[in-house]
Amino acid sequence: MSDRYKTILLFGPPGVGKGTQGKILSKIPGFFHSSTGDIFRNLDSQSELGRVFFEYSSRGELVPDDITMKIWHQNLYANTHLGLFKPHADLLVLDGLPRSVTQAKLLYRYCDVKCIIHLVCRDTEKLFDRMRKRAMKENRVDDAKPEVIRRRFAVYEAETMPVLEFYKGHTVTEVDAMRSPAAVLCEILEAIVPIQESHYRELATQG
Ligand code: ADP
Repeated sequence: MSDRYKTILLFGPPGVGKGTQGKILSKIPGFFHSSTGDIFRNLDSQSELGRVFFEYSSRGELVPDDITMKIWHQNLYANTHLGLFKPHADLLVLDGLPRSVTQAKLLYRYCDVKCIIHLVCRDTEKLFDRMRKRAMKENRVDDAKPEVIRRRFAVYEAETMPVLEFYKGHTVTEVDAMRSPAAVLCEILEAIVPIQESHYRELATQG
């Protein structure tokens, strides 16, 4: 069996609901949710890395790839040692990673990507609205200003969309993100429960 983590990617533009769905999945045994946005936001804002995150996110830019990969991996390593992530038993649900082709390439040595859930919303204005409401509720600097939100969408088109091309040949499930959270969840579960069951069968045959 490959030593790479069996992984499901939650993919889609800012504000599409990756975090909402990731958090719900994290409540189900056997799924471990890892969100780079959450990892960054939990950094001490006075630390050097916290300042780097603020510098990029407040402009609507991506944090540089090498820093992102390093922090993400350190976080996963810590969670493994705390017994919160069980690499052999759990499926890893990545939310917000990879966001560039370089990150996708660097991820290869850690992650065996089993399926990509592409949350789709063609109406950018609706996402824009959602993000403005979220900014007020969650005090997010990256979503507070309209020009920063616009920049985030432009960065998504230019740097993150090409990630889908990188995963050509993988299973991609498109889900309409504008349906209710429960309906979106149902569609995601339809795609990923069979992956989890086959993973458990594999584990059982290994004793
Ligand atoms: P959203 O939920 O709106 O898609 P996130 O909470 O995932 O946004 O990310 C917030 C910010 O954190 C991003 O705007 C970016 O600055 C930074 N960030 C998150 N993930 C990555 C990543 N994989 N690579 C670089 N920067 C990232």
